[in-house]
Amino acid sequence: MLIDGHGRTVDYLRISVTERCNFRCQYCMPEKPFSWVPKENLLTFEELFLFVKVAIDGGITKIRLTGGEPLLREDLDTFIKAIHDYKPDIDLALTTNAYLLSQAAQKLKDAGLKRLNISLDSLHADVAAKIAGKNVLPQVLKGIDKALEVGLKVKINMVPLKGINECEILDILEYAKKKGIKVRFIEYMENIHASKTLQGLHGDEILAKVKEKYTIRALGREGASPSFNYGLDDGTEFGLIDPHKQDFCENCNRIRLTAEGNLIPCLYFDEAMSIAAYVKDGDIQGAADVLAQVLKDKPKENRWSEGGPNEDNISSRAFYETGG
Ligand code: SAM
Ligand code: SF4
Repeated sequence: MLIDGHGRTVDYLRISVTERCNFRCQYCMPEKPFSWVPKENLLTFEELFLFVKVAIDGGITKIRLTGGEPLLREDLDTFIKAIHDYKPDIDLALTTNAYLLSQAAQKLKDAGLKRLNISLDSLHADVAAKIAGKNVLPQVLKGIDKALEVGLKVKINMVPLKGINECEILDILEYAKKKGIKVRFIEYMENIHASKTLQGLHGDEILAKVKEKYTIRALGREGASPSFNYGLDDGTEFGLIDPHKQDFCENCNRIRLTAEGNLIPCLYFDEAMSIAAYVKDGDIQGAADVLAQVLKDKPKENRWSEGGPNEDNISSRAFYETGG
């Protein structure tokens, strides 16, 4: 079992397999970065897999592949199959913008993927294009349908933004209800890479929009999930990811690995340690030692409880690098 310096069990590893993306979401990567990590600095799937084995042997039971856009990385299904074959009961999930999903869904399912979180910020083509930087909606909706058709479990992620898609909170909830899938509203997290003028909705404002139509019941957090669940009278459930709330970090169970091998204890801090040299040398003990140190150093909580996020208390790392 992996325990951090604050006594929390860490059983969840998120791996960003690439920082590259085919979207330019305003809240994440509004413009192509000045420079990408050179391809030769990215860990190969063999190298990433060596660390995955160390992590699983230590106590990781859930792995999510993310990015950037993970479906841009070739042979992702081979990597998924390797993880699945090593530990078939691992909770193996992927977060994607779904643009390439209609072609990939069956292959991912066959490789052993169990669950997908799909970003869907608008059901209007022009608004979706405004957020993502190009016309994406038809492909995304096709991807969602294909994933459901092949039997993958799907959740929708929406980031409500003031003056842009805030009026679609109920529409996205209705869409998800119709498809029989769960939606999670994510508070916009301030970061230096996002468009400067963006303003997100706070959790209370998101809930107020849902309450315009429904009576809601608070159901609580699901284990160590960052999502606080709510129920509607008809049994529908939705989630709210609210990192601006004080108790958000209490049960944090996760660490993050970037595509170049930086192991990140917390999304809201710059600190990280590299496993790259160890996995390149096949040094399992070296990689395990870095993992132990990162767990020991994991911060207790983000620094937003007093006065909210500001330029001194947000990480300078981009979400497309950490994987969100
Ligand atoms: N490209 C994939 C996608 O968009 O689903 C995976 C990577 S993306 C960085 C992972 C998640 O982070 C997405 O659900 C996205 O909405 C979320 N995200 C990115 N920037 C964010 C921000 N500034 N605030 C809140 N969520 C953000
Ligand atoms: Fe790409 Fe996902 Fe970031 Fe959008 S949120 S730019 S799809 S990595």
